[in-house]
Amino acid sequence: MRVAVVGGGIAGLAAAWELTCGPQPADVTVFEPGPLGGRIQTETFLGHRVDTGADAFIARVPDGVGLATELGIEEELIAPAARRALILVGGRLRPLPDGLVLGAPARLRPLLRSGIISPAGVLRAALDLVLPPTTWPEDPSVARVVGRRFGSQVAERLVDPLVGGIHAGGTEHLSAESTAPQLARAARSHRSLLLGLRALPSPPDGPLFLAPRAGMGRLVDRLVEALGQRGVRFETLAVSRIIGEKGGAVMVEPFGAFDAAVVATPAGVATDLVLDSAPDASDELRGIRSASVVLATFAYRRSEIAVPDGTSGILVAAGEGRLMTACSFGSAKWPHWSDRDTMVLRVSAGRAGDERALQLPDDDLVDQLQRDVAGALGTTASPFHWRVSRWREAFPQYEVGHRTRVERIEAALRRDLPGVALAGASLRGSGIPACIASGRQAARSLRGRGSGT
Ligand SMILES: Cc1cc2nc3c(=O)[nH]c(=O)nc-3n(C[C@H](O)[C@H](O)[C@H](O)COP(=O)(O)OP(=O)(O)OC[C@H]3O[C@@H](n4cnc5c(N)ncnc54)[C@H](O)[C@@H]3O)c2cc1C
Repeated sequence: MRVAVVGGGIAGLAAAWELTCGPQPADVTVFEPGPLGGRIQTETFLGHRVDTGADAFIARVPDGVGLATELGIEEELIAPAARRALILVGGRLRPLPDGLVLGAPARLRPLLRSGIISPAGVLRAALDLVLPPTTWPEDPSVARVVGRRFGSQVAERLVDPLVGGIHAGGTEHLSAESTAPQLARAARSHRSLLLGLRALPSPPDGPLFLAPRAGMGRLVDRLVEALGQRGVRFETLAVSRIIGEKGGAVMVEPFGAFDAAVVATPAGVATDLVLDSAPDASDELRGIRSASVVLATFAYRRSEIAVPDGTSGILVAAGEGRLMTACSFGSAKWPHWSDRDTMVLRVSAGRAGDERALQLPDDDLVDQLQRDVAGALGTTASPFHWRVSRWREAFPQYEVGHRTRVERIEAALRRDLPGVALAGASLRGSGIPACIASGRQAARSLRGRGSGT
């Protein structure tokens, strides 16, 4: 079977890996006009290998560790050295309290002690225990679930910075089922959300996040190397259109005919690729909006800046009026990213509907972000070296109704373009393990095509 994989991000590469596993490996060509790895890029920054996109993957979802194990690099995986996040709220930095599930409290005492929520806000959250049950729509937004049960302070000061931060979007639009399934499950299974959260199985022991010591790019490099050994070809070519042919073959323009294709591009690109051949799928794909973000990597002199011990970074509540949406203490999480004299911070900006950061020239952007960092950490220090990475349309927005939209897209594609399967961050999870799982699943769904079957 000849298969085209369109997009060489982690989802496309995982699809190529799955297609070449087993006794009858497919003949695979990966089309990728940009750097392989897509949103996973590790670059040299002041002589150290530093991630300028994703810097770790969640360990609990098995597909990340599983792929690293298959590639023989599981022993290279390390956990961040610092774990506890801070939150900037009301102009002050405070540690996130214990007992949170995606920002929602399973316990009230740590919440009260945290100072993030006012005593009146904690009382409002406690009302959840006595409020009558809520009748939920099929797919409520995250803000609706949390706001209804715990009140607006918990929704705005804890859950929105966490869940909204992960997806670079506003929780008033994000689907609870698709972006916070634990919250959705807890809300549906119990009258009280607090009790529902307490009843969730506790997370397994061990690190929450992992990454290869040499950076996330190591996973990509090792995967590309192993794919090469399996005979997979790589073409630095952008695919412009995919059309179904008589007999079930798939024309991948401008390259040629294949038995099947995996489309592992962002939804906006997939929209155009299948516009002519699967117009209904294309229409639905167009409805998946995405957010652009900017990530500035800053190097400071250690003598001029300090971060609180054991902390991994800062989340910023949307109401704080800052351009910075988060700041990750790179050298605290990954000590090998810098040396004794240097501290590396990664500062993010940009959210769905807010493209200010994307539009600013580098100098202005760096200036504003370094002032945000200085204000949050109470320092006058400024970075002596920096790099700006612009990630356009990087975070698909799983808005209310997302899951059924994906089902409609896949049904339309099966009907109109049966040799093509979709994969990637736009579908069922934008975290790296979910993208790996989606690539492998897309590959499995194509098995049996070609060679006259
Ligand atoms: C700054 C940042 C930080 C992140 N941090 C984390 C993190 O710490 N942990 C985590 O789990 N996730 C993180 N993510 C999310 C995660 O990195 C992505 O969701 C994931 O890597 C997406 O993989 P993908 O293969 O679906 O898409 P992509 O990586 O976007 O790959 C799609 C590829 O398709 C290619 N393409 C586009 N058009 C065409 C065309 N016409 N023809 C052929 N190819 C085409 C693109 O060039 C691209 O390489 C982060 C994302 C960003 C941007």
